[in-house]
Amino acid sequence: MSTKEEYDCIVIGAGVQGSFTAYQLAKNNKKTLLLEQFVLPHTRGSSHGQTRIIRKAYEQDFYTHMMEECYQLWAQLERETGVKLYRQTGLLVMGPEKSENYQMFKNTLQKNKVPTVVLSRDNFSQHIPHVTLAEGDGAVVDITAGVLYADRALRTVQGQFQKLGGVIRDKEKVTDIKPGPTVKVSTSAGVYGAKSVVITAGPWANRLLAHTGLQLPLEVVKINVCYWKEKVPDTYNVKKRFPCFLLTEGEEANEHIYGLPSNEYPGLVKICYHMGSVTDPDQRDKQTDRSDIDILQRYVARCLPKLDPEPAVVETCMYTLTPDRHFVLDCHPAHRNIVIGAGFSGHGFKFGPIIGKLLCELSLGEVPSYDLSPFRIRRFQANPKSAL
Ligand SMILES: Cc1cc2nc3c(=O)[nH]c(=O)nc-3n(C[C@H](O)[C@H](O)[C@H](O)COP(=O)(O)OP(=O)(O)OC[C@H]3O[C@@H](n4cnc5c(N)ncnc54)[C@H](O)[C@@H]3O)c2cc1C
Repeated sequence: MSTKEEYDCIVIGAGVQGSFTAYQLAKNNKKTLLLEQFVLPHTRGSSHGQTRIIRKAYEQDFYTHMMEECYQLWAQLERETGVKLYRQTGLLVMGPEKSENYQMFKNTLQKNKVPTVVLSRDNFSQHIPHVTLAEGDGAVVDITAGVLYADRALRTVQGQFQKLGGVIRDKEKVTDIKPGPTVKVSTSAGVYGAKSVVITAGPWANRLLAHTGLQLPLEVVKINVCYWKEKVPDTYNVKKRFPCFLLTEGEEANEHIYGLPSNEYPGLVKICYHMGSVTDPDQRDKQTDRSDIDILQRYVARCLPKLDPEPAVVETCMYTLTPDRHFVLDCHPAHRNIVIGAGFSGHGFKFGPIIGKLLCELSLGEVPSYDLSPFRIRRFQANPKSAL
């Protein structure tokens, strides 16, 4: 098949990361094509749904540093488009006062001078009624945190990309990538050429990377996105200033449990477990394990007494995990004009604007704005357990 069109850059995958990368490239006057295998919008990857949490509360300083600028970039997109994408609610972080994880969250917030409120056991129930704080648990609120309107954000950034002259082709699955000075990208509809390619394929990243001779230690898990009904409507409502929350670890489980106030679905609070069961992204619905829901039911019954401890709605989403849960933001080791954004490990949405900027910089051969060493591919090569 002959090459149909030539671009400066082709971005593969129109989730949050690919969409922001394409937008940044178009802002830099690059002729850019964004390819997506499904008809947009769709619910089969990792970026769909109405909401995500945005926060500066992290265990590691480098994420908190990136979030400083990222908040500004979200606000800039809101100004450019006149669309509201963020609502401040605060994030209540809870966890065993003596645990390393909880202390890392608290220290990072305080060290980086993020506005916070530390809640003592005495004033916890006054500020956060209808939540049980376990014996020995501490509580700190990241005031800057809130909710991002996820579906709306995707529509908005894709629309801006198109306004800047960018081309989106959905229902066009990439079937092959041929590296070279001009990278050839084959799809179900034809072959395109580009000076550089960015792969932001979420759970399908390794499928695409296989065409370039690279495999990353990525694990795809299915997440049951659970919504829990308020016994009395609006008890945990955003309008009543109920915050987002995150439990670092608890009686029920070692991974985080996190929640968002009732907002998008009236009377329903979104609470999820930060881990799921391994799945093939094309066979997602065949994974029927409910052990994460069992953990959540026990947690809800123990700590959120004004919720019905049976999920009213269960939706599906996927995480693409790296062994250390840090992202992959790097150039392909053998083909420098192929850039990879992958392994967002269930916490990448909030970083969309800054990931887009960084992947754009890498694809233009520029020095990235942040130290990318935590995100380099070579970290896996040093760890035999996660060999490439
Ligand atoms: C339940 C849940 C809750 C979350 N909560 C938060 C949160 O509160 N805060 C936060 O910051 N993050 C959160 N995340 C994580 C965040 O949503 C993800 O990190 C982010 O959406 C990953 O985006 P992505 O663009 O890498 O992947 P995706 O959204 O999966 O996008 C990849 C795209 O590539 C396309 N594609 C794949 N292969 C091909 C091909 N061959 N040809 C063409 N297109 C292709 C796919 O169809 C897909 O559209 C959550 C995730 C889930 C699942």
